[in-house]
Amino acid sequence: MIRIASIEPESIADELNLPVGLTVLEINGNPIQDALDLIFYQAEERVLVTAEKLNGEPLILEIEKSPDETLGIIPEPDKIRRCTNACSFCFVKGNPKADKLRDGLYIKDDDYRLSFLHGHYITLTNLRPNDWERIFKQRLSPLYVSVHATQPDVRLAMLKNPRSALINEDLDRLGEEGIVVHAQVVLCPEINDGATLLETMENLYSRGKSIQTLSIVPVGLTAYNHDRGGRNLTRDECLLALDSIELIREKAIVEREVGWCYAADELFLQAGQEPPGPDYFDDEDLEANGVGAISWISERVRNGLHALPPRPGEKIVVLTGRSMEKTLMQLTAEIEVATGATFQTVSLENSLYGPSVTTAGLLSGADHADGLERTAPFDLALFSALALNEREMFLDDLSLTELRSQFPDCRIEPSHDLIDTLTNT
Ligand code: SF4
Repeated sequence: MIRIASIEPESIADELNLPVGLTVLEINGNPIQDALDLIFYQAEERVLVTAEKLNGEPLILEIEKSPDETLGIIPEPDKIRRCTNACSFCFVKGNPKADKLRDGLYIKDDDYRLSFLHGHYITLTNLRPNDWERIFKQRLSPLYVSVHATQPDVRLAMLKNPRSALINEDLDRLGEEGIVVHAQVVLCPEINDGATLLETMENLYSRGKSIQTLSIVPVGLTAYNHDRGGRNLTRDECLLALDSIELIREKAIVEREVGWCYAADELFLQAGQEPPGPDYFDDEDLEANGVGAISWISERVRNGLHALPPRPGEKIVVLTGRSMEKTLMQLTAEIEVATGATFQTVSLENSLYGPSVTTAGLLSGADHADGLERTAPFDLALFSALALNEREMFLDDLSLTELRSQFPDCRIEPSHDLIDTLTNT
């Protein structure tokens, strides 16, 4: 069963006045256990909803609609399936201790439903027989899978879960049932790089269309998990990995007309190289995994420059992490010419996780406040919207409202897209 958390305006549920808190038990006789069941079973022309009112009375609703139209029910969040592995490089173990961060950051999720719905990477190690059946029955494809290595002993050493050694059997099963996989390797030096990486890439490539893409992401140890028996890649190791990736890409481009295997921006940056342009990534959308984000933002800004409104004389500050600094400096120089504003790009060091964590989305509210303090006064400050959660709170529980109140004479805006933000702010 699911409980209604809210209703989309002007939806079927809105017209029917379905109340928040109503329990949905079944649709067309199928038990509804979570949001995914709701999505799956409401996609019919005739929908018979069995529900229970807040006072315990039963409610039956018969609805006719287009199969594509949703009911407009937003359910309460599902209980997240937890990870049963114990990777030494786990980002959750890399969090600061002593409850410094909001609770969600301490949850190790490994939930195939979130993989299908939101592209979260999963390891397949906590799937029960009925989960496998559901993946096949509801055609939960594509799934995003952290493979790391196809050699059972290597994967077992990395995930420290006996179930993880069955990765080849798991991928076989998904392939046989037509479930497509976006695979990922988190590259750890002296563990799954070198010959192991080459063999893993060949194994995954040989699986044909069932592995749609492979992303290679360098391990990112923080100040809190760097002493758990691992280290970050050196520049030479990153260069070697990029050479290996290029070998399989050349083969894929000839045989499949796509690169198929994609190195994360961070791998290029750690190798001292410029991340590639958009052609490298074909049309694959893997930005959430740090693959192609720099390329995307560069393209977006260069294509949108002509539409920006003039802003002569304004001082605009752009806060970011180390990994985006150079790119943003180049892009804001072009925006300066197009708008007449003066830009200052401020690269912030991560005070929560340590200097090895360079992504803007993991900077705290205190880091942002510090950067703004150093640059005030300004007319407008922009920072990555990824640094906020849905309640506009930074990782350290500073709210956007609190940050703004520290700089009452200046505008401070989160930004997903520089062009959109500068057009609408
Ligand atoms: S699979 Fe992911 S969440 Fe689980 S221990 Fe490994 S890194 Fe952490």
